[in-house]
Amino acid sequence: MSTGPIPERVDHRKLANHAGLIEGTLPLQCFQRLGEMLVAREGEVFLRLEFSKGEFGSTVVNGSAATEVCMICQNCMQPFWRKISCDIAVHVVADEAKLERLAEDVDGIVTPDKVVAVVDLIEDELILTMPMIPRHEEGECPKTEYEQVGIVLPEVLEVEEVQESQTTYRPFAGLAETIDKQNT
Ligand SMILES: [Zn+2]
Repeated sequence: MSTGPIPERVDHRKLANHAGLIEGTLPLQCFQRLGEMLVAREGEVFLRLEFSKGEFGSTVVNGSAATEVCMICQNCMQPFWRKISCDIAVHVVADEAKLERLAEDVDGIVTPDKVVAVVDLIEDELILTMPMIPRHEEGECPKTEYEQVGIVLPEVLEVEEVQESQTTYRPFAGLAETIDKQNT
């Protein structure tokens, strides 16, 4: 069994007829939509896919995919790497009519061809495992120069705040005196 690079496109019908299995790697660069979410596209996606015959002449693909992706942490704005992986369960059907006949909880891909791009079988699932807001794990953001500046910053802000409140407080003090005079 090969664990090296696999072809970008495979004959899914032939694989299904022989209960075939593909196992190996695809470059991350093959994944256009996933790639747009990443800082770096170096690396590989490891995958293992089993093919079998399903209903209405469809091909059933089951397996898993895993890779390591580089994103920008939304806390510290530094790049970080995270491993992602997902299970794959998808049916390849020839047309829309057959797609509609699949059970609702089944993911389907429509292609009239016997050849399918391996990327199309797994890219959606990989994207779904991406975090909505990419972040380091709690407490793992690296210390930065920005943080050191931040220690000095509150003192400066505090001085400004006091001055501001003194100037804005005076009119109210005067108003309170006026109300006091009216009450007496
Ligand atoms: Zn971070």
